Amino acid sequence: MKPFHYVRPAGLAEAAGAHGGRPGSAYLAGGTNLVDLMKLGVERPDTVVDIARLLPADVEATADGGVRVGAGVRNADLATHPVAGARCPALAQALLAGASAQLRNAATTGGNLLQRTRCGYFQDVSKACNKREPGSGCAALDGVNREHAVLGHSPLCVATHPSDLAVALSALDAEVEVTGADGVRRVPLDGFLRLPGEHPERDTTLGHGELVTAVVLPPGVFGVPSAYRKARDRASYAFALASAAAVLETRDGRISRVALAFGGLAHRPWRARVAEERLLGERPAEDVLRTAVDAELQAARPLRDNAFKVRLARNLAVDVLGRLAGSLPD
Ligand code: SF4
Repeated sequence: MKPFHYVRPAGLAEAAGAHGGRPGSAYLAGGTNLVDLMKLGVERPDTVVDIARLLPADVEATADGGVRVGAGVRNADLATHPVAGARCPALAQALLAGASAQLRNAATTGGNLLQRTRCGYFQDVSKACNKREPGSGCAALDGVNREHAVLGHSPLCVATHPSDLAVALSALDAEVEVTGADGVRRVPLDGFLRLPGEHPERDTTLGHGELVTAVVLPPGVFGVPSAYRKARDRASYAFALASAAAVLETRDGRISRVALAFGGLAHRPWRARVAEERLLGERPAEDVLRTAVDAELQAARPLRDNAFKVRLARNLAVDVLGRLAGSLPD
């Protein structure tokens, strides 16, 4: 591992000064992704600023009845917090589907969103990767790309975002609270995580030196039927080949509210706006759900090895939506 300066500041302002927005600086919280990438030589910071003890670590109500989850809240703590569980099942289910119990004890809410792709070529410094080294090429395009994107990819990068939590947060209309030199701002999750486009080296819209300080859930997502389901190669400790998070309510036998997001298909959670629009006001019958989800997935452009993901995602989404509507058995 490349030698680096380790700094443990006393407060967030001091941390921002130590980081300085320099490309060679990195913030450290749970460390479950950054430290692995440093060992692999993928991340090579000169200065590591430890903010694990400085990040907000509370779950608190907001003035409008929503919930603010501090960026330092550990995944294991959030999964078992009263705001998750029965009050917001998709949140707890997504957290518990991620990683292992040991990692969930260390990993933080903010770090979960900021974790980097698990594309094998990104993690192998001997391979071409535009995300790791802009302009070097993308070994995955003509390589083994079974686990890569089918939606929203670019000729420069076909990676997927690995987070389960982010998929649930997308369906739950969460916002990301970002703190920087100009103060605090909130960004919808879908505006925080990026598609690769011309700049796959940028995973988020964070500015230099900015920090994720919290995730904010709106009041309307609590006590509403929601769910998260994930398909992977083995039963635990594996990233999603495809996943689906949904919120769904019915009134008089018709869908009165729906939100659907896919994971494992794109560089960020894929919010299924086309399907949502088609489903509003419809009966939640299986054929109706299937037609709407198929309309969303028309945009898919599978790679050589991953056409199976389109059908897998469709079946997951129909299953999740149907169970929430009560039109498919639990
Ligand atoms: Fe790198 Fe993206 Fe290509 Fe993977 S898919 S090798 S992360 S550029």
